[in-house]
Amino acid sequence: MKLDYRRYDLKLKHTFTISRSSRDIVPVVLLELEKDGITAYGEASPNARYNETPETVETFFSLIDLEKLSDPFKIERINDYLDSISDHNASAKAAIDIAIHDWVGKRTGMPLYRYFGGEKEKAPITTFTIGIDSPEIIVKKTREAVEYPVLKIKVGLPNDEEIIKAVRSVTDKPLRVDANEGWKSKEEALERINWLSTQNVEFIEQPMPAAQIDDVRWLRERVKMPIIADEAVSSMYAIPELATAYDGINIKVQKNGGLLKARKMIYAARVNRMKIMLGCMIETSVGITAAAQLSPLVDWNDLDGNVLISNDPFRGAQNKSGHIVLNDDPGLGVTPIS
Ligand code: MG
Repeated sequence: MKLDYRRYDLKLKHTFTISRSSRDIVPVVLLELEKDGITAYGEASPNARYNETPETVETFFSLIDLEKLSDPFKIERINDYLDSISDHNASAKAAIDIAIHDWVGKRTGMPLYRYFGGEKEKAPITTFTIGIDSPEIIVKKTREAVEYPVLKIKVGLPNDEEIIKAVRSVTDKPLRVDANEGWKSKEEALERINWLSTQNVEFIEQPMPAAQIDDVRWLRERVKMPIIADEAVSSMYAIPELATAYDGINIKVQKNGGLLKARKMIYAARVNRMKIMLGCMIETSVGITAAAQLSPLVDWNDLDGNVLISNDPFRGAQNKSGHIVLNDDPGLGVTPIS
């Protein structure tokens, strides 16, 4: 078995601002795993929120004993091995887990969505995300997003109302709103959510810091809008407690350490009667297509990371006006663009 990896800088079409950061370039690490003449792909999109960088990803890869990956069908055992190397490094583990799944799919001749038991026609519409910006730019971005039936709007800085009003000056389509932990007091969060309730908003994602679960529980008793956990969703073990404060969870293959763990979280969330959103980082079509393979199993999709960049080096699942179109190629179904 051979493992190769390289850094690659994703160029964003627009500066992407959320409540805690602003970026034009997002460095990822692309992975190639080769065994028995089959080349499989993976990707890590490291996240500073979880103390990850391209360096931490590469360090993690350098610690892997390839002998432990030699039977890719033992996906459970491989995931346990990756967890034994470190408690952290979710995106690096995701890269390996994605490539292992791609290999198994290619070896068995099966597209992963079928391996997972899903029906690709059932994938819910995906949102298109609009980052925090000036009202003029928000209006421009909203107009550019005309083909997408549902938008996800980032808020969490003092200009929330201005942003939503700018969007609403252009369109009345449904919105989903993500505060990325931006509201620090429960009273502030309550006031903002009450106002958002008048603006055709379907749900609010991570209104308050992940650690303030008691405040979110207080909020939930006072609002009708579903509250979805994102930054608070560290692993499947967090789900039973999250279910006491949130209506749903945002699962991300990169944040949660790969496809196997994401699937387990889908089932854990269902057991706890929670709604499921499938989210993403800024990623190439490798990471997005990996997540898209799970998309028929969830309630809401937010898989637009690859359409926000201008230099995607792969082709995979297509985003046709918010509809996720999976192909029937075995494995991930991604091809490098030469
Ligand atoms: Mg989020």
